Amino acid sequence: MPDSTDALETFRGEARAWLEENFPKSIAHRGSELIGMEHVAEDADLDLWCQRLGAKGWATPTWPSEYGGGGLSQLEAEVLRKEMSALGAFNPLTVKAGMGITMVGPTILEYGTEEQKQRHIPPICRGEVFWALGYSEPNAGSDLASLQCKAEDKGDHWLVNGQKTWTSGANIAQWIGCLVRTDPDAPKRDGISFLILDMNQPGIETRPIELIAGASPFCETFFNDATTPKGELLGPLNGGWTVGKRLLQHERASQTGARGAGGAAAKKSIHALAKEYVGTDAEGRVADPELRTRITAHLMNAKAQNLTLSRMIAEARGNAKVSATASIMKNAASDVSQERAELAIEILGHSGLGWEGDPFEDHELEAVRHWLSGKAISIYGGSYEIQNNIIAKNILGLPESTQRG
Ligand SMILES: Cc1cc2nc3c(=O)[nH]c(=O)nc-3n(C[C@H](O)[C@H](O)[C@H](O)COP(=O)(O)OP(=O)(O)OC[C@H]3O[C@@H](n4cnc5c(N)ncnc54)[C@H](O)[C@@H]3O)c2cc1C
Repeated sequence: MPDSTDALETFRGEARAWLEENFPKSIAHRGSELIGMEHVAEDADLDLWCQRLGAKGWATPTWPSEYGGGGLSQLEAEVLRKEMSALGAFNPLTVKAGMGITMVGPTILEYGTEEQKQRHIPPICRGEVFWALGYSEPNAGSDLASLQCKAEDKGDHWLVNGQKTWTSGANIAQWIGCLVRTDPDAPKRDGISFLILDMNQPGIETRPIELIAGASPFCETFFNDATTPKGELLGPLNGGWTVGKRLLQHERASQTGARGAGGAAAKKSIHALAKEYVGTDAEGRVADPELRTRITAHLMNAKAQNLTLSRMIAEARGNAKVSATASIMKNAASDVSQERAELAIEILGHSGLGWEGDPFEDHELEAVRHWLSGKAISIYGGSYEIQNNIIAKNILGLPESTQRG
């Protein structure tokens, strides 16, 4: 039995030994400094770690080993995650692959032909390719089924014309997975297909959009007679709505781990931050009792969120499938992350008002930018309200919302 306690303990020993030998100590506990939502720092040891982790298949631990994944069960992957965390190790390839590891890869594994799996999965496992995702359009965000970007069948290839927006990392991506309209006459959800396109072609142009937090990790993406071979249709023709929804479940499942406020709060616990900036009382506790209560409530929410996630992983017992519960966890993760970011900014007081300049410490400026960029958590991958609609309909069985499409 691969997941018996003994087998898991044997695996734990193997994983620890491999990590001790292969994870460069120089980058231990530096994950949040070296890897951000939109950057991977240049560092020789980080590069080495990316190569070793990718070659071992442990950046994609539960993916089948025949395509370059680790072939581990969910429980083994959880053991690996804990061992990595104990050593201060982290998985940089989830950022280096763009949407490859978290969303597109699992969807190709589920819906792809053997040829598509052989072509696309191994480079994702090794972190060699960056994937973007072309879902949203100027008039198709939450109402995604209204999308207009179209693909025409030209015999041996598809011809794609239209526009996408908010396409994260499109300007640096090698591949993009797109939802496109392949039957304009069908009811809107029935005329959509999922196409994979090579970004390196003259028919695709990207224009970065600057965000409120200063970075430009996403783009407007234009398709002007872009092409892709017929073999790059993922899943059935005009069956893209189902494929696309499945991918979104993977996206939401990947967003269920609450991100901290980053910066100050990521490097110091929220308690330590409060003691430093707000001060302590005679008993050494955070001086402000109201703030103390709020911090405690936040830590309980974070703990509950984490334990629920661990329970869900344990219950999955080797079954990597995701479901509508990902929507619950995505919203819970958004709450916890934004709550933490708000607390961090409040605790910093005037020091949490900086944008740039000498009077501010680096971690204070970082906290402000993380607070701003954290606003996006409850928007991307389907907004908070849309997740609540999904929970109401698919989990609670309540009647259809007013959303059309
Ligand atoms: C950081 C970031 C990265 C992103 N990356 C990508 C990407 O890589 N690829 C991609 O394709 N897209 C990406 N997106 C786009 C994202 O998926 C959309 O922003 C999201 O789906 C919301 O769509 P919208 O912006 O058009 O908002 P709208 O649909 O206009 O919604 C505006 C508000 O109205 C609410 N609302 C809308 N309809 C309903 C309803 N029926 N019931 C209740 N409330 C409703 C929404 O919840 C929201 O609060 C990204 C977005 C962000 C912020």
